[in-house]
Amino acid sequence: MINQPSYSTRPTLRVDLDAIKANYTALKNKVGAAKIGASVKADAYGLGAVPVGRALYGAGCRIFFVATAGEGKLLREGVGPNAAIYVLNGPAPRDKGVLLGAKLKPVINSIEQARFWASVSNEVNEPPYTAIHIDTGMNRLGLNAEELTELSRDKKLWKSLNPEWVMSHLACAPDASNPMNKAQLAAFRKAAAQLPLTPLSLANTAGIYLGKPYHFQMVRPGIGLFGGAATTKPDQEVSRPVVSLLAPVLQVKYIKAGETVGYNATFTAPRDMRIAIVGAGYADGVPVAQSNKGTAIMHDMEVPIVGRVSMDLTILDVTEARLTVETGGVALFRGAHLETESQIGDTLNYELLVRLGQRCRRDYWKPKKEDA
Ligand SMILES: *Cc1c(COP(=O)(O)O)cnc(C)c1O
Repeated sequence: MINQPSYSTRPTLRVDLDAIKANYTALKNKVGAAKIGASVKADAYGLGAVPVGRALYGAGCRIFFVATAGEGKLLREGVGPNAAIYVLNGPAPRDKGVLLGAKLKPVINSIEQARFWASVSNEVNEPPYTAIHIDTGMNRLGLNAEELTELSRDKKLWKSLNPEWVMSHLACAPDASNPMNKAQLAAFRKAAAQLPLTPLSLANTAGIYLGKPYHFQMVRPGIGLFGGAATTKPDQEVSRPVVSLLAPVLQVKYIKAGETVGYNATFTAPRDMRIAIVGAGYADGVPVAQSNKGTAIMHDMEVPIVGRVSMDLTILDVTEARLTVETGGVALFRGAHLETESQIGDTLNYELLVRLGQRCRRDYWKPKKEDA
C-alpha cells in the first residue's frame, strides 16, 4: 500500500490538512450557532502553526488561541490580519511589544495581569480587545472569586480592558459523569452574572460533547481538530485522524532464537524471527516507554516493537507480517493508532502529538482521489 520505490532514511510526518478542515466543519456542525475558537497552542499541537492555521482559516475559522505571544506572532503569518488571536497565558511586561505589534489579544488571568494590561491599554491608540478568564475550580489560570469581585466593582478597569469574551476552562470534561463538570458550569454562570453582559466560552473539545449548555457563544477545541480522542467515549466523536508518522524500513534481518535485540539486550528472541529496523526513534516522537510494548502498523497489520526504542531507530517484529517487508517500506505510527499508542505508553494523545520531532520531513498532505 504505502510502498515507496524511492525513499529517505528520514521519517515523514504527514499532516492531512483536509482532515483538519473536515474536523473543524464537523465540530462546527455539532455546536450550531456557537463560534469556534481553534486552540492551536504549542505549534498547533506539534503539527505546525502556520500551515494548520492557514487550513483552519480556509475552513472558515476566524478565532484562534495560542499560549504565548511568540506563538501568536508566528500564527499571524499563517492567518493574516483578519483573524483574532488570543494569548492564553496572558500579558507579561516583556511581551508587550509583540502583543501590540502582532495585534494579539491577551487573555486576562489575574488582577495583576488586568492592572498591567490596563496601563498598556491606556497608553495606546487602539487597544486590542481582551478575554477575561475566570477560574471556576481548576485552580490553574484565571481570576479567583475575590479578584472577580474586585474587577466587577472597578468599572474603569473593566473599560480599560475592553473585554470581548469571558471564559473559563473545564478540568474533567472527558468524563461526562464527573460531577465537577456541572459544578464548574454553575460556577461559571454565577461568575458571569457578576460582570457586564459579555459573550461566554467554556468548552474545550471534550466540553463540546457535554452538550449544548456547555457551548455558550464560543467553544475552543484543540485535540478534536487534530484527530485525537477527547473523551472517554471516542465512538461518539466526530473527528478523524490527521497525523501519520511514517518511518522507512532501513534494514530487514533474520535472527535466531536466543539472540537479543537493541540496547541493553532487553529483548531475547523466543524463536527464529524476522525483524525490521525502521528510521524513527524517540527523537522523532516514538516514546521510549513503547519499548517492548508498543506496536506500529505495516501492511495494515499491527507489528510489535522489540527491544528498546533508540534515538533514531525502532526495531519491529515482522515475522508474521503477511506481505514482503523490504527496505524503503514504511511503518506507520500515530494515525488511527494514536489512542492505542497513548494507552500502551501510559501517556496522553496530546503529548504524543506535541512530542513529534523536528527532524521529520513534513508533508502537508491533501489526499489524492485514488488514495481516498
Ligand atoms: C488547550 C486548551 C483548550 C483546548 O483543549 P482540547 O482539550 O485540546 O480541546 C481550550 N481552552 C484552554 C484554556 C486550553 O488551555
